[in-house]
Amino acid sequence: MFDWHKKRSEDEFYVAELDKHLKNDKTRESWDKIVAFDPMGWFAHPPTMAAVYSSVLIPEVQFEVDGKIVREDGRANVLKLAMDYVWDMKRMSERLEMDEDKFRASLVKYTQNEKIADKSRRLYLPPVGGCTCYIFGDVSLLGKESTEVAVRVHDSCCGSDVFGTDICTCRPYLVFAVKAAVECAQRGGVGVVSFFSLSFSNLLFFGISADIQFSFSSFTQIIYYQKEGRSLGEVTKFRVYNARKAQKGGDRSETYFFHTENIAGIRDARFQEMMPDALHFLGIKRIDWLLSMSSDKYDGITQAGIQVMQRVALPDYWVPKEALVEIGAKIAGSFFSPFFFPPFSIFDSNSDCPTHSWLPLRQG
Ligand SMILES: [Zn+2]
Repeated sequence: MFDWHKKRSEDEFYVAELDKHLKNDKTRESWDKIVAFDPMGWFAHPPTMAAVYSSVLIPEVQFEVDGKIVREDGRANVLKLAMDYVWDMKRMSERLEMDEDKFRASLVKYTQNEKIADKSRRLYLPPVGGCTCYIFGDVSLLGKESTEVAVRVHDSCCGSDVFGTDICTCRPYLVFAVKAAVECAQRGGVGVVSFFSLSFSNLLFFGISADIQFSFSSFTQIIYYQKEGRSLGEVTKFRVYNARKAQKGGDRSETYFFHTENIAGIRDARFQEMMPDALHFLGIKRIDWLLSMSSDKYDGITQAGIQVMQRVALPDYWVPKEALVEIGAKIAGSFFSPFFFPPFSIFDSNSDCPTHSWLPLRQG
């Protein structure tokens, strides 16, 4: 059974538009920067990438039917691309500004896999979740400089993304981003929503955090354990929620970070240094609309040499009432720079969209 997944079935096919895009030299111009994925993973054995056409239907929003990007049944056509991590250990240690031996030794220690210490083995496939890109519009248009590009790089949050909790803005931002990506595609552009499941929490999983924290000199380096609860794990996340809700005076922005720091000893355990690899892979050199308020993500993308023209904040009426505490704390904590706020009407001319009824701020 072990070998079965390595074989491509005769029924599998390479999605033509993606194949064309990936074979374009322009797409590959930044591939030498990629350290977390194998850019040729589509053709590898076993394949570490796979793509499939699909559709998206989100109950909170209605897409405008155009018969091309959005079908008659209201579903938006999408190209989904899944990518497993393939770590180039030498280059990844360089990216992390770590000694390669120390990097490998940390991996050996926490995986009990002695083979990782062997420097003749360049690549490592960590047994953790990867990244999925949802691409709206013709992906091959990314090769044209004039193409309008909207991007969200989304860190998974099961409580909100799947179960719709109202204490954070993860799902609302994800839904807003999908809507913006679809609209961008309908204007002739390309919308990309990248979803990181475990992302680089892996590094803390492998016990590399302490090393990294010591080896970085200046800008913020935050390491994931799990993405849930800012990579601190869902147990910690729920403990923080519990303390926030139970504290004297009730949940409020002023004490938002205190509780995470008090329980976990750190405010946030993520970092975004490898995240742009997925954008390099698709050949994205300029993002017209970055659907994120995170300064860490913005810094990660721009420091990777990708130009960001405009950051798009989540409109306030998309924020669940309970999540006002979080968003207020993040704004106060300089998670993003208000200087970059665009007019929301660009994406949301219909601000009275009834599909937002589960996001009660406007009514409340
Ligand atoms: Zn969340």
